[in-house]
Parts: sequence; structure tokens; C-alpha cells
Amino acid sequence: TTAVRPAPPMTRTTCGYCGVGCALDVVAEEDRIAAVLPARDGPVNRGHACVKGRFAHGYLTSPERLTQPLLRGEHGLEPVGWDEALAHIARGLRAAIRAGGPDAVAAISSARSTNEENYLVQKFMRVVIGTNNVDNCSRLCHSPSAAGLTASFGLPGGTDTFDDVERSDCLLVVGANPVEAHPVIGARLLRRVLRGARLVVADPRAVGLAPHADVHLRPRPGTNVALCHGLAHVLLTEGLVDDEFLRHRAAGLPELTGLLADYPPDRVADLTGVPAADLVAAARLYGRAERPAIVYGLGVTEHLHGTDGVRALANLAILRGAVGTGRGFGVNPLRGQNNVQGASDMGALPDVLPGYGKVTDPAVRARAEEVWGVPVPPRPGLRIPEMFAAARAGRLGALWVIGEDVCATDPDANRVARALDICPLVVCDELFLSETARHADVVLPVASWLEKDGTFVNFDRRFQRVRPAVAPPGRARTDFDTVRAVAEAMGTDLGCPTPADALAECARMSPHFAGLSHRRLDREGAVCWPCPDPDRPGQATLYRERFATADGRAHLAAVPHLPPGEQPDGDYPLVMVTGRRWAHYNSGSMTRRGGNLALDPVDHLDIHPDDAVRYGLRDGEPVQVISRYGRARLIARIGGETAPGQVFCSFHFPASGVNRVTSDHADTVTSCPEYKVTAVRLAADGAG
Ligand code: SF4
Repeated sequence: TTAVRPAPPMTRTTCGYCGVGCALDVVAEEDRIAAVLPARDGPVNRGHACVKGRFAHGYLTSPERLTQPLLRGEHGLEPVGWDEALAHIARGLRAAIRAGGPDAVAAISSARSTNEENYLVQKFMRVVIGTNNVDNCSRLCHSPSAAGLTASFGLPGGTDTFDDVERSDCLLVVGANPVEAHPVIGARLLRRVLRGARLVVADPRAVGLAPHADVHLRPRPGTNVALCHGLAHVLLTEGLVDDEFLRHRAAGLPELTGLLADYPPDRVADLTGVPAADLVAAARLYGRAERPAIVYGLGVTEHLHGTDGVRALANLAILRGAVGTGRGFGVNPLRGQNNVQGASDMGALPDVLPGYGKVTDPAVRARAEEVWGVPVPPRPGLRIPEMFAAARAGRLGALWVIGEDVCATDPDANRVARALDICPLVVCDELFLSETARHADVVLPVASWLEKDGTFVNFDRRFQRVRPAVAPPGRARTDFDTVRAVAEAMGTDLGCPTPADALAECARMSPHFAGLSHRRLDREGAVCWPCPDPDRPGQATLYRERFATADGRAHLAAVPHLPPGEQPDGDYPLVMVTGRRWAHYNSGSMTRRGGNLALDPVDHLDIHPDDAVRYGLRDGEPVQVISRYGRARLIARIGGETAPGQVFCSFHFPASGVNRVTSDHADTVTSCPEYKVTAVRLAADGAG
């Protein structure tokens, strides 16, 4: 007889890379990942996955994985046991509180972590430390989405699901490159276009969807608000608006109409560089469609006026009555990271508690205090850039950085590193000895998304389960266990012994999540929030009856176009834009430690041929990119994808120093950095 080998165990989980939230079936053999298969019944991916989710798991077994805690001693970071590391952290936190009060401690939580871990981090900061100094990396990407969408519609999430968007007959894709950054969604959008939907792409670069567009608008970086106002001007003047919707469900039309008088296509052409005829053509496509949809990305948010950009985009959907009516599919941000929506949903933000109730609202605090049994601090805490500023000013005694390589990913990285060096205690939860970990006093080895239990929320507000396919290496622990252990070392039992308990507790704090539980998600697979009732489906499409604003109306925003923080000048004549490429993810710490590195081995600076001639640069040769803040070294790639006067590179290879170049300008509402506009000059490497 032939022995039949039993099938290796398969675990259903959710991809830990981008915010699409592909469901994956992970095959493990002898505690190693043997294969990652896209789930045919995945609610978003339907049998598809991209080169990141499917193949970029080699980092799990990298010899560089951290497997035991590290503590800074005489000879630098040295391995220690968990007890010693936890005791050191507890002593440092108590010392910081003694010296400067609870507000001398801060934590940066992570979009890489599960909802339950984020819930626990913010609970630890509020309950054990007594401060609202907790933020997460949405500060650096989609915080303007949360602020802008809340102001326009009432809730800090996309208005529709991607299933809705896929029924659209006209897609307006703004400041996003989903073909590379969200490949499964990029493919679904492209399929929709190939089946007849009209497509308007608004992006300075010739991004992946641009060749398929009916109109490709190429605004100068930093001019999104003017571009949207130009489109809105055409909608209004050509009567392509929904008068009934505007009368009964919207507010702010007189103010917007007054403002838009200053944005006729000719003037907008001057402001943005987009030909007036293209602008009019795009507005007519969007305005005459039966079911238009807007999809956007970081090209809208990462600006000095990123929140205004989101609101100006929302204006278009409101003017058309294309939100909350079924006659269009609203405004939908493509979230970059796997759980950037969830980290904010869970209250890992300095001004709101789980479910977005304001910490300044006594009724919101009272609800949390009932669940937690301790007073909640009433004053909003520090945002991430303010944490670094406080550290540099000697006002921060301890900073806990969870799963973020802030020295590589935050703008003006030299100043971030200085802040960490000044702060008396820096604790870092990490997979690898990242740049940030090198500046830490204690480094805690943690589990990856393939090694932990919990949930993520994807870009269309969909809760999905995350399950461990393999065990973490050595003595690495999940962030969930780490937070509980630090709380215990401080003498407090945080409660919530399991991730399921944490989500259950969160559900008691916010009606948005009241109907959610691990058991329900195990049964149903995915549930969108708001979900106030365990016996009813979550609300996939929002605002059918009323908007979630105080008056129940959608709010048009009369926000003027204002210039970006930096303009090219004689010293720095080009604009650098950063973004994502197809094979890598964020700082690249995971995707560069596996097969994906071979697919895209070095970071390039994309340069237009005219600029290459002007600066004497050759394809494939090293080039320096220099700003007022620092310099980076990359390899020149000369082609027409970028417009003349602009250069583009990714942030996947921090060693090249890209974020030493980016500016410290930030969104005036949310402090999201203006990664999309930095004035630079180029020099052949070796010159300068
Ligand atoms: Fe899906 Fe995004 Fe993961 Fe790719 S990276 S498999 S698109 S969730």
C-alpha cells in the first residue's frame, strides 16, 4: 500500500500588506510557510492576490528576525530575557511620569498591528499611563481622509464598498496608482474599464491606469484643490448637478458657488498646468455619468492642504448627488496599509476614543470610564510630529514605537533620529533591527501578521479575521502580549486576556462596532462597520437615509486653493514626489527580505528625458537628489512617466536616504506630511 501523506494544515487569514484586505489561505509545513493561496471566496479579492501578498513571506524565516529582547548596555544593544527588558521599561516609564507627568510618555501604534493590538495600546496609554499621547501611522498617510470625509459626510471612512465602485460607469481616479500600490483593486478597476466604464485619471505621473483613461489630467503636484474646483465649476455652469439632492440633502452651496466663480477652466489651467479643454472633458464625463465613482490615494492626502483636497473631491460627489443615493458611488480612499483604517477605528489617535468619540466630550469619556473603570484624560494628546518635537525639546521622557520604522519612513528623517536620541527611554517593537530600533533603548521582538490572531479593517471598512499560520520565532511575542506584559510590569492587569476579549470590549464602547465579534467574523467571513447590531448586517454603503453630520446633510466645502509648502526655485528647480512600486511595500523591511527583491532590486529616481539632458544624467547611473533637508543617492531611470520638472522615487529603500530629503511641511489640519512636494536639485553622484 502507498502511504497517503496528510494534507498540510491550511489557515484562512487576511493579507498583511496593503489595505485591499485580500483573503488568503496559507499552507504551512513544519511551521514554515509552504504556500500562500488567494481565497476564491475572498470578499474583495475573489481568487486573486498580488506579488506582495502571495510571495513576499520569505522574511519570516530571515536570519535577521529578532528572536529575543535587546537592551542598550555599555556595548550597545545586547540580548536579555523578557523579565529584564520589561522591568527596564517599567522603571523608565515610571521615571518619565515622575519627572514630567503622564504627558511625558507617548506611543506610536501601528497600522501593521491588529485591531485588538491597537485597542490595547490606546487602552494602556489612557488607563495605565493616563495620557492621550497615542497616535498611529495614519497620521502620515490618510489622516486627511478621516478629517475630510468626516467634515463632508460625518464618518471617517469611504462612502461605499468596492463592489459598489465596480458597478460605476465612470471612474475618477485621483492621486492613486492602484495598478502598483493596490494591484488587486487595480485589476478590478481595469476590468471595469475594459468592460465599458469611462475613466478619468488625475495624476501628475503616467500611472498604470493612465494609458486606459479617456482623459488623463496631469496637475502640477500641490494643485489638487484648484483642479477639483475647476471640475466643480464646469459641473455647476453646465448644469451637471443634482438640484434636488442639493436642496434636500446638502449644505453650503451658496458659499461654494461664490468661491467657484474664481475657478473657471482658464484660470485653473494656469494654476494646475492642465489644459482647460481636458478639464472640461473630464468634468463632462463625470457629470454626465449615471453612476460616477471617485477613488483616490495619497496623491490627494499627503499635502500641505491634504484635508482640503479630500473635501474638494467630496464636493464633486455632493454636487452630482452621487453619494448616499445609489446614483453614484461616492468618495473612496485607497488605504495604503493593511490596517490603517482599523488602527484609527480602535482609537489609537490622540483626540478620539475607540469609535471616534472625541476625548473632549464628557459623555464619550463617561462611556469609556464605565467600561475601563478609571478616569479618561480630557485633553487631546500629541500627534506624531509633536511627539518628536517634544522629545527634541526635552519634554518627552519615554516613547514606545510599535512596528513603525519612523527613522526611515517619517519626513526629515535626520530630525526624527535626533528626537529619539534625546528621549531618555525609547522602546521599539520590531521584526528586524530597523533604523528606528538602532536608536532604541529596548527592542522587543514581535510576531508578524502570519503569526498572530485578531482582525484587520480594510479600505472599505470591512472587518476580517487574521489567524496565525505559524508560530513566531524564538522568544518573539505578539504586540498584544507585549502590551499586556508591560502593563503587568507596571502593576496593572489590562483585562482582555485574548484578542477576542479585546474586540468584545471595544464593541461595548462604540455603537459602530457593537455587532462585531470574532465568533461572528468566523461565521460570516467579513462584516463592514458601522455594525450596531449583532443580528443585522453591517452598513456596506453609507448614508442612504441621512449623512452622519450633526444636521444630517452632506457639507460642501468652500476651501480656496493655496500653494504647497515648497515651490521649485533657482536653487531647487525640480519637485520630488514619492510613492509606491509594485513589488515592494512601505519601508521594504519585509519585501526586501525575500524573493521580491529580485523583482525590483534597487530604488530608482524617475527623471524626464528633458531634465536628464539638462542636468547631464544618464540612465542607470547613480544620481544624488538634494533638498533643503538632506540628500539621497539613487539610480537614474530616464523615461516619460514623470512630467518635465518632476522626479519620482519610492520609499521602499530607506538606505538611499529618500526621507532625509522630504520636507517637514504638513497638512494644516491633520499634520500629515507633504511627501508629494519637495523642491530638489539633482547632481551626478560624486558631484553635489
Ligand atoms: Fe491583496 Fe494588497 Fe495583499 Fe496584494 S498586497 S495580496 S492587493 S491585500
